[in-house]
Amino acid sequence: MSDTKSEYKFRVVIAGCGIGGLALAAFISRFTKENSDGRITVDIYEAKPEVSTIGAGVAIWKRSWQVLQDLGFEAEFIKKGFKVPKDGECNSESLRVTILKAYSVCFDQPVAQFFASPTNRLKVTISTAMSVPLIFHYALLSLQIDGPVGLHRPTLLEIFESKLSADCKIHTSKRLERYEVSNNGSVNVVFSDDSVVAADILVGADGIHSATRGTMFKSIGQRDERYLRPTFTGTIAYRSGIPKDKFVAAFPNHSAAEKAQVHIVSQPLGPWIDITCYNSEPELEGKLYDGPMVKEVATKDVVGLCEDWEPDLLSLIKSVESYNAWAIHVVNPLPRYVSGVVVLIGDAAHAMTPYQGIGGGQAIEDAHILGRILSHTLTRKDNISSILKLYEALRLSPTQEAAKKSRNNGLLYQFNHPDFPFSDPNHPQRDELEAIGNAIGRSFGWLADGDAEADWVEAEAKLKEIADH
Ligand SMILES: Cc1cc2nc3c(=O)[nH]c(=O)nc-3n(C[C@H](O)[C@H](O)[C@H](O)COP(=O)(O)OP(=O)(O)OC[C@H]3O[C@@H](n4cnc5c(N)ncnc54)[C@H](O)[C@@H]3O)c2cc1C
Repeated sequence: MSDTKSEYKFRVVIAGCGIGGLALAAFISRFTKENSDGRITVDIYEAKPEVSTIGAGVAIWKRSWQVLQDLGFEAEFIKKGFKVPKDGECNSESLRVTILKAYSVCFDQPVAQFFASPTNRLKVTISTAMSVPLIFHYALLSLQIDGPVGLHRPTLLEIFESKLSADCKIHTSKRLERYEVSNNGSVNVVFSDDSVVAADILVGADGIHSATRGTMFKSIGQRDERYLRPTFTGTIAYRSGIPKDKFVAAFPNHSAAEKAQVHIVSQPLGPWIDITCYNSEPELEGKLYDGPMVKEVATKDVVGLCEDWEPDLLSLIKSVESYNAWAIHVVNPLPRYVSGVVVLIGDAAHAMTPYQGIGGGQAIEDAHILGRILSHTLTRKDNISSILKLYEALRLSPTQEAAKKSRNNGLLYQFNHPDFPFSDPNHPQRDELEAIGNAIGRSFGWLADGDAEADWVEAEAKLKEIADH
C-alpha cells in the first residue's frame, strides 16, 4: 500500500490526549490494521505542552482490562516491572474495616482496608459502646468477583502511545477552542492560537471541561448550563503519594506497602504508593464551587481531617510532603453524545465520581467500541453520521448507569445513603453498619458481569443492519 492521501478513508481529529483520546487512537491503529480496507489518519491535539496525567494510580476492572489485554498491555506492564494479577486474581480488590480509635475493637483484616467515617467528615468523633467487629468486607469477599487491576497512570499512557500506528500524530500545546461544521459535512476545528484544521470526524476526548461538548450543545441550541458546565459533588479528594522505598524504610510492616485501602484509598503501584483521602460535604452537592479545581494543600490540613484515626492510617497520611486537593465535579447526564460527525467520549461525555474507580475504564470502553466501529470495513464517509449514532446508542445508557452506581457508592461509603439511615447517628448499630457493608459488596457485582468481546459482537451485528439500509 502506498502512502497517498487518497487511500485514507477518514481524517479523524481527537481533542485531548488523556486516557480516552490515546485509547481511541490505539484501538483505531489496532483494528484498522486488521481490516486494512483504507487507512484512517488520526491527529490528537492536546492542550498541555506534553502528554501527562495527574495522580499515579488507576483501577481497571475486568471488561476494560480485557480490551487492554487484547492490545498486549499485560506483557508491557510486566516488562516495566509491575505485578499484574492472573485471571481470577486481583491486586486491588477488597474492603477491610479499620480500627477506629473510638470503637476500640479489633478486626480481622484479610486483604485491604476500609476506613469508614460515621459522620460526613473524615474526622471521627463517635464515642460508642460498640464492642463487636464490623464486617463490611465479608460481603465483597463472598461475592468473589474479579477485582480491578491497579495500574500506574503514566505507564498506562506511555503504553497507549507505543501502540499508535504511523498514521497517528500527537500535537501538543494545541487547545481546541471550538469547531464549525462546513457545508460539505466536514468539521473545521479552531484552536486557541487561531489555527484551523479540517476533519471528517471530530472526537471530543477533552475531559470534564470539554470545549467540544460546549460547542456541540450550543450549536444545537441547548445552552442549558447543565450540559455546558460540570457540577460540584461536594467532595474534595486530597491526592498524594510517596516512593515505596522511603515509606517502607520508615514503616517496615505497614500494610499500605502491599495492600490497597479504601475509603481513604491507598494503592501500592510498583515503586510508588498512591494515596487519596476523600472528604465529603453532601449539602454542597450541586452548589457552585468557586475555588480552583486543583490546589496544593499542606499535609497538616489533611491530617487535621482524620487525627482521631488509627496510628497506622495516620502514619500513612503524614508520610507525604503535601497533597493536591481536587474539587470533584461530574458531567450531568447528557441527552446525547453525538451531533453529526462530532462525538464525545470519556469524561467529556460522562465524567463521574471516583467511588467505583470506573471513569477511566468507561473511557477505554467508549474508545474500544468507537475505534472498532470507525475501523470497520462497513463504515464509510457517507454513512458515518448514522454509524456514530450507533456508538451513542451503545454507550450512553451504560455510562450513565455506571455514573449512578458510582455516586451510590459514595453515599454508602460516607454513611449518607437515604436507604440506610442510622436510628441514632451518634451510635450506629452493628446491623445497620453491616447492611451498608453488604450493600457496598453487592454494588461491585456488576463489574464482574459481561464480556467486552461479546459487546463487540452485538455492536457489529447492529453495524451490519445500519450499513445494509
Ligand atoms: C480522584 C480520582 C480517582 C480516580 N480513580 C479512577 C480509577 O481508579 N479508575 C478509573 O477507571 N477512573 C478513575 N478516575 C476517573 C478517571 O481519571 C477519568 O475518568 C479519566 O481520566 C478520563 O479520561 P479522559 O481521557 O476522558 O479525560 P482526561 O483524563 O481528563 O483527559 C483529557 C485530556 O484533554 C486535554 N484537554 C482538555 N481540554 C482540551 C482542549 N480544549 N483541547 C485539547 N486538549 C484538551 C487535557 O489536558 C487532558 O490531557 C478517577 C478520577 C479521580 C478524580
